Amino acid sequence: MNTPRQAPQPMKSLDDALAQLLGFAQTLAGIEQVATLEADGRVLAQDVVSALQVPPQDNSSMDGYAVRCADLADPLQAFPVSQRIAAGSSGTALAPMTVARIFTGAPIPAGADAVVMQEDCAVQPDGSVRIQAMPQPGQWIRRAGEDITRGAVVLSKGERLTPASLGLAASIGMSQLQLVRRPRVALLSTGDELVMPGTVAPQDMPPGAIYNSNRFFLKALLQRLGCEVSDLGIVPDQRDATIEALRGAAAQHDLILTSGGVSVGEEDHIKPAVQSLGHLDLWQIAIKPGKPFAYGRVADAHFIGLPGNPVSSFVTFLMLVRPFLLKLQGVALVTPESIAACAHFTWSRGDKRREFLRVKRNSAGGLELFPNQSAGVLTSVAWGDGLVDNPPGQTIAQGDVVCFIPFSELLA
Ligand code: AMP
Ligand code: MG
Repeated sequence: MNTPRQAPQPMKSLDDALAQLLGFAQTLAGIEQVATLEADGRVLAQDVVSALQVPPQDNSSMDGYAVRCADLADPLQAFPVSQRIAAGSSGTALAPMTVARIFTGAPIPAGADAVVMQEDCAVQPDGSVRIQAMPQPGQWIRRAGEDITRGAVVLSKGERLTPASLGLAASIGMSQLQLVRRPRVALLSTGDELVMPGTVAPQDMPPGAIYNSNRFFLKALLQRLGCEVSDLGIVPDQRDATIEALRGAAAQHDLILTSGGVSVGEEDHIKPAVQSLGHLDLWQIAIKPGKPFAYGRVADAHFIGLPGNPVSSFVTFLMLVRPFLLKLQGVALVTPESIAACAHFTWSRGDKRREFLRVKRNSAGGLELFPNQSAGVLTSVAWGDGLVDNPPGQTIAQGDVVCFIPFSELLA
C-alpha cells in the first residue's frame, strides 16, 4: 500500500521552538543549602524574608552633632557636648540644651531629631559647639527600616543572585541560602577533524584537522549559568560510538549537550543515535546562523544538539540553551531583552530566516557590523559586543532602528 506523501514541514520559528523547549524544562527537583558567599549566579529555591528591619534603628548619615531642633533658636548660642556616639556604640537620651558628637552609622540618641554636619558647626575654645546652619527636623537621619521592613520578601524564589543580592541577603543576616541545585550537563563534541589544543602543535596539524573551539566557549557558557559540567571530550563520527557516548552520558546528567554532527550529512550521526536511544522532539529552526538545532530525550536526560559551526553553536546556545538552563533552575524571566539601537551599516540581503548579526557599538552610540557574517567566523563573536535580531527578509539601511541584544545581557 502506498503511504501518502507528506508535505515538507516548514521549519519552526525561533519563538515557537523556544516556547516548546521551555515547556520541556521543568524546574529541577532538589534544594541545596549554599553559603551566601558562594551563591553568586545561582537561583533561589525559596523566598528570602527579613526577620529584622534595616537599618535596625535611626542612625546618622554624617559625621557631626545630633541636636534637638527646638533648642536651636539662637544662632549665637554654644551648646555643651554631652556625649560621643561612634558607629557600633549606642548613646543615652540627649539631655536638653546639649548636643551629641555623632559619627556616620551611629544610632541617633533618644530626644535628638536632626544631625548637623560637622562642617556647619564651630567648636568653641571651651569645647562647646555653635550650630551655624539651622537644621530641618530629620536632617541627616537614616530612618529605621527605610531599606527593609521586618517581614519583607527581599529576594524571591526563582531570582538569580547577583553580587548586590548577596549583599542584600547578608544585610538581613542570611549566611546560607536555599538554592535550586546546579544542572548537571554532559558536554560532547563530535567531529573526526577535531583536535584538542595542546595535543598537537599548530605546525604539526595534519591536513583537514582543526582545533576544537566550541568545547571551550560552551564549557565557559555553561559554567557561567551555574552548571556542573562533565566535559566528555570528542566523539568520533561513527554511529556506534555516538550511541555509546550518549547512553553513557544520560545516566548521570540532566542535559547532554553536543556540538556538530546534527545535520543530514552521512557523517552526522547524532540524530539517528538520539532516535535509537530516545526521541527527538525538535529539529531545525528558522534562524541564521544555527539552523541545525535539535532537542530530544535520551533515557531520563534532556538532549540538545548544537550545530558544529562555531558561530551557530554560540548563537543557538545564547538564544535557546541559556533560557532552557535558566528555566531548569526555576528562573521565571528567561528571554533576553533587546534594546532599540541605530544601525551604522547596511544589510542588503535579508535572509528568509531570522538572523542574528554580530555587531559592536561605536563611540557615536550606533552599531557597526562585523564584515564577515559567516557561521564559521568566530572572530565576529569575539569582536562583537552583541547581536542584531533581524526579522526574516528584512534589509537594513544606515540609520535604521534595529533590535540589539547586548552580550552583557546574555553572558551574565
Ligand atoms: P558539523 O555540524 O559537524 O557538520 O560541523 C559544521 C562545521 O563546524 C564543520 O566545518 C566543522 O569542522 C565545524 N566544527 C564542528 N565542531 C566543531 C568544534 N567543536 N570546534 C570548531 N569547529 C567545529
Ligand atoms: Mg561534523
